[in-house]
Amino acid sequence: QTEHVLMDETAIRRALTRIAHEILERNKGFENCMLIGIRTRGIYLAKRVAERIQDIEGVPATVGEIDITRYRDDRSVSAEAALAGSGEEAAGIEGKLEVQNKKLILFDDVLYTGRTVRAAMDALMDFGRPQMIQLAVLIDRGHRELPIRPDYVGKNIPTSRLESIEVKLDEVDGTDQVIIKGQ
Ligand code: 5GP
Ligand code: MG
Repeated sequence: QTEHVLMDETAIRRALTRIAHEILERNKGFENCMLIGIRTRGIYLAKRVAERIQDIEGVPATVGEIDITRYRDDRSVSAEAALAGSGEEAAGIEGKLEVQNKKLILFDDVLYTGRTVRAAMDALMDFGRPQMIQLAVLIDRGHRELPIRPDYVGKNIPTSRLESIEVKLDEVDGTDQVIIKGQ
């Protein structure tokens, strides 16, 4: 099996700093915006970008968290079954997210088929009607199966379906690194 480092700590830091600037540029500041991290690594990416936004803009940037493991349409629990519960229960979100009329910026580590993001949007819209949802990912590896595209991308990595991307973040893995693993 081959392994190749695609991003080191410096590259990840620069990409997240750029994304923070892009978010502020596109939204003309951070008013009415909220970052939402998708389960483990998306949450830490969102928190890092939130810190940069606070430094650059001098405004507080809140981060919401979402766990859509049980929401995926191709996992054992059907979306319908997951949706049968209350919004919070179904989405596995800690506490209630105030999404009404907000601009939500979703964060995930890797974008692949788009099914996770679709499920996350479903879950978020159970909480209310956001004004807009944008998507930020550290890695876009291609192979979309749904009409979903990211607004902010750390790095585009065209992959084969046989390859996989390993994203290591200091908060979870003790190091910052993106690796591609081949056959
Ligand atoms: P999708 O739902 O778009 O098919 O896959 C995206 C989700 O699965 C993300 O939450 C991401 O963490 C995970 N994922 C899909 N492919 C990869 C991959 O190659 N590497 C990593 N680290 N995660 C992946
Ligand atoms: Mg994930």
